[in-house]
Amino acid sequence: MSSPVLGPDTWNWKKNIWSPPLLPKLKFFLWKVALNALPTGDNLQKRGLFINTNCARCGGTESIYHILVHCTFAKEVWEVGPWLHQLNPLHFVNFKELLQASHTWVNLPPYGISGNFLPWLCWTLWTSRNQLLFENRTCTPQDVVTKPLFCVESGRMHRLQRDQLHIRTAHLSNHRRRFLNSHRTQTLRRGS
Ligand SMILES: [Zn+2]
Repeated sequence: MSSPVLGPDTWNWKKNIWSPPLLPKLKFFLWKVALNALPTGDNLQKRGLFINTNCARCGGTESIYHILVHCTFAKEVWEVGPWLHQLNPLHFVNFKELLQASHTWVNLPPYGISGNFLPWLCWTLWTSRNQLLFENRTCTPQDVVTKPLFCVESGRMHRLQRDQLHIRTAHLSNHRRRFLNSHRTQTLRRGS
């Protein structure tokens, strides 16, 4: 069975969301997008919220696919995307198809992200929408494309710190072993 919003039921969740090397926050976000489970304007309307739920940027009906693809702002973001080839997301009928196709897209060599950039692009489109809506903070399409670089950089820093911590812990345990060995030798000598 197939749904125009969610795509075919045979879609491979593991291959498209859970297996790729992505931060857990991105996987969780993609999962929610693919399930159409984010609190977008159209979903809030379905839950009976009768506030203005239209897109804060263009006034159109706000669905997740509108935020990520159809909104005038999203179109500008896609135009400055860091891919080797110009991509047109309008060729895809839903998010699942878009995500599935994105695994083969190649980033421009000078760009600092070697993996799939689409999850990052969607993430920053969503978070910049939230910042506009709840904090009245605006950003440019270029900001949406460059912001993930800082996130990846800070992720690298975290990894580096974690690795250094592992090394330090290893040093400590070696030090502890040496200390215990010498203590045991001294005790044996004293006992003899
Ligand atoms: Zn819009």
